[in-house]
Amino acid sequence: MAFTPHGQHLIAGHWVRTDQSFFSEPAHGPAHAFSVGSVALVDQAARAAEDAFDSFAATSREQRAAFLDAIAEEIDARSEAITEIGSQETGLPAARLQGERGRTVGQLRLFASHIRAGDYLDARHDPALPDRQPLPRPDIRLLQRPIGPVAVFGASNFPLAFSVAGGDTAAALAAGCPVVVKGHSAHPGTGEIIAEAIHAARLRCDLHPGVFSLIQGGNREVGQAVVQHPLIKAVGFTGSLAGGRALFDLCAQRPEPIPFFGELGSVNPMFLLPAAVDARGDEIARGWMASLTMGAGQFCTNPGIAVVLASQAPLITAAATAALVAIGPQVMLTEGIAAAYHRGQQAIAAAPGVQTLYDSHCEQRTATPYLYQVSASDWLKNPLLHEEVFGPLAVLITVRTSDDMLTVARAFSGQLTATLHLDEEDSALGRQLLPILERKAGRVLANGFPTGVEVCDAMVHGGPYPASTNFGATSVGTLSIRRFLRPVSYQNIPASLLPQDAGK
Ligand code: NAP
Repeated sequence: MAFTPHGQHLIAGHWVRTDQSFFSEPAHGPAHAFSVGSVALVDQAARAAEDAFDSFAATSREQRAAFLDAIAEEIDARSEAITEIGSQETGLPAARLQGERGRTVGQLRLFASHIRAGDYLDARHDPALPDRQPLPRPDIRLLQRPIGPVAVFGASNFPLAFSVAGGDTAAALAAGCPVVVKGHSAHPGTGEIIAEAIHAARLRCDLHPGVFSLIQGGNREVGQAVVQHPLIKAVGFTGSLAGGRALFDLCAQRPEPIPFFGELGSVNPMFLLPAAVDARGDEIARGWMASLTMGAGQFCTNPGIAVVLASQAPLITAAATAALVAIGPQVMLTEGIAAAYHRGQQAIAAAPGVQTLYDSHCEQRTATPYLYQVSASDWLKNPLLHEEVFGPLAVLITVRTSDDMLTVARAFSGQLTATLHLDEEDSALGRQLLPILERKAGRVLANGFPTGVEVCDAMVHGGPYPASTNFGATSVGTLSIRRFLRPVSYQNIPASLLPQDAGK
């Protein structure tokens, strides 16, 4: 049966509305009215989250794991309705949304098994040494403890996996932190049905209602109030550099500054080394274009730049431009994102030294691919060419020598990923590039493409600024739970007083 959103916020177990409404702007299907968020609702949600904190932080790992599993079940139970409303609101194809739902419930279940295993607590124990001279040593135990209520900003480009019940929410709940989500106005109906699933799971698990709240957007004050609320202790965010930086600065300016775990974009450079290009330039170029244009290029790991020897550039450009011919217009997530893409494309096309390799024409809410070429010297001079254009647009940087390739590598700002395409004979250059790239990126990969982020124990999805605002953290994979935990030492505290988590 079709899902019709009621348009309300979920605040501590109650569906509520304010006096004002905004309308969703679906790519297809009917628009729906949603209640606009307010500063007062943020306050209610944050207070309820703080009220819930003590009991939620004191739950056993098994109780929280059961909650995560229940959320996954409730999402699966609504699968058809989620795909339908999600596809209407975002324009993403049904198959992509089905895959993203699988990833979302997979993340929830992964965190459930992760906390059941208990290793994430990094529990340490230095037993007392009462006879030690000149002073006895006390008994000291270390445990990771939840930090308090966490705010999560839903991302426009992953309406499920990085939104209401996405990786940030799963990690925070697994850690024992209540969550207040600021929904993305690009997919409020999708957010609502996922909030219904979390609400149903919370009731099943008999947890405090303040454990989860969803506030819809429609008003910039909501996001600002969320990060400034004194009871919020950390923020998870995926979005634009400008928006993320503004919210990060607000977090830093608070009387009590809090961590802002923002993921703000990346051009994900690829370095095409000479022997690999000689052996399989065609295949690399085709793979690059497939990765670039997948999902209208709306991935944070989209490979927007490749670097190649000028003498080998024709090998790459011939195959790349041929591959692009088959790519038609794709609907973008929002009109705002499409407008930003069109502006970004025009700015790149007009930049000094930039040569158009593949031109196209897109209008309104669609994206078509563009491919440009620029010399390393022109690229190095122009910071605009270092920035992400969110969509299927790529720039090929040509270098004269391998040393120039190292110079270009050093000039990149922080990245989510960096890729090497190399063969055995490229090893010497690869050995020089790797130490440079590991200082630039959270993930360095060889002979592959950065889109498609595996959700696993060893994944890092983060990197130096501006890829993320916190280079020590990841927003994907089990390590992401560490963002919402704080180590506490318990000195001579009787075992009977320690948190449940202390017992394995
Ligand atoms: P965005 O504009 O940064 O918005 C993300 C969230 O932050 C939204 O909830 C937004 O609220 C809120 N927000 C942004 N600026 C704010 C401010 N100054 N004060 C309070 N709240 C603020 O990102 P977007 O809407 O998803 O997309 C816009 C652009 O972001 C894209 O064109 C693309 O360049 C980039 N983007 C990058 C990635 C990535 O993975 N790197 C992902 C998505 C988007 P409202 O809904 O009220 O505006």
